[in-house]
Amino acid sequence: MELDKKKRSEISSPDSPALKELCASLHQLAIDLEIPEENGLCKWPKTQLDLCAKYGVFKWFLEEKDGGFGWSDQDLTLGYLALGSACQTTTFVITQRTGACQKIAQSLNDYARSQLIPNLLRGTHFSTIGISHLTTSKQHLGQPVLRAMKTQKGFMLNGFTPWVTGAAHADTIVVGAECEDGRQIIMVVPTHIPGVKIVPADQLVAFSSSQTSRVNFEKVEVDIKWLLVGPARNVMGRRIGGQTGGYQTSTLALGLARAAIEFILGESQTREDLVVPAEALKSQWYTLRETLLNSVSGREVANAEYLRQECNSLVLRATQSSLVIAKGTGFLSSHPASRWCREALFFLVWSSPQSLINRQLYQLAEVLPD
Ligand SMILES: Cc1cc2nc3c(=O)[nH]c(=O)nc-3n(C[C@H](O)[C@H](O)[C@H](O)COP(=O)(O)OP(=O)(O)OC[C@H]3O[C@@H](n4cnc5c(N)ncnc54)[C@H](O)[C@@H]3O)c2cc1C
Repeated sequence: MELDKKKRSEISSPDSPALKELCASLHQLAIDLEIPEENGLCKWPKTQLDLCAKYGVFKWFLEEKDGGFGWSDQDLTLGYLALGSACQTTTFVITQRTGACQKIAQSLNDYARSQLIPNLLRGTHFSTIGISHLTTSKQHLGQPVLRAMKTQKGFMLNGFTPWVTGAAHADTIVVGAECEDGRQIIMVVPTHIPGVKIVPADQLVAFSSSQTSRVNFEKVEVDIKWLLVGPARNVMGRRIGGQTGGYQTSTLALGLARAAIEFILGESQTREDLVVPAEALKSQWYTLRETLLNSVSGREVANAEYLRQECNSLVLRATQSSLVIAKGTGFLSSHPASRWCREALFFLVWSSPQSLINRQLYQLAEVLPD
């Protein structure tokens, strides 16, 4: 295929012209995603991820000492904004892959780092993550869904991780589990070891091509050499092991909003009645972009939950405006406006702590919090 033959230069900064080139390819390739194939699954974005590897995208997220480019948080945000407006599915998969890479790279486990990081940087190894059951999923059940028991060799895992993006394509999954005494661990689990059962991915409202699925663990004994963090209390709150959320979800929401706003601005060139709403959405987008960049760079830190709520509001309004403008034609599932609307709904459920869910609900119900 033409896309694979071309020689590419790595994107070493967000101003690189190669970033525009990559985004144009991702935008074009997005048309093939979200359409169920003969096996009932939507196409996994393999071509897109291979392209990202060739352009050096996976190096953005790791420090120079680990072989990465060590991009600043501001540059990463600019990179994600560009990728997110070109193809949300690929960008979302990259966030989950990066979550796994960073947990491996930031761990004190030299074995896991030396075995995995070089191939993760090259894009020849795919690792993903299943940790939401320690933070935002299954919290109301009052008991852990994935249990870890210490054995002579390492840890025995029993239970499941409810959500793992790209599980069927993963060589390894970074998972969180809870021990009997309430302490938690984060481990790398090679997907080929006995007892790892990847449940076929369901059709989703959007991002079906991310092939996100549940993974069952039936007496899976994982060697101690793969332990990244713990056993310790609240591993997700610790510095090593990483926190949830941050500004990443807001960044992807703004990336998607940009795609919809660019469409509306394009239409407003020939439809005068669209100019005022198009300009209003554009101006709100630039204001939020500035707040986001100030926050990630530490210049003027905004409350992450407040910013997330504002970005969610903009992405929902911008994508729905694109549908209003595209009218019945936009309602065809193949039209980008309908895809953007579906994708925007994801920001209502992705990595949302209870406090954010409450804020969101009050806003939707148009009730002021006490
Ligand atoms: C497309 C997609 C991809 C994802 N990818 C990943 C990934 O790669 N890695 C990862 O770690 N996570 C991933 N997640 C998980 C995500 O970040 C959230 O954790 C998840 O969306 C939370 O939803 P839940 O249904 O699991 O929440 P839950 O809180 O478990 O809710 C489950 C059900 O229980 C009900 N419920 C909730 N609270 C209560 C209550 N108090 N009382 C009674 N019933 C209740 C809800 O109504 C809901 O129907 C992904 C999610 C999606 C949708």
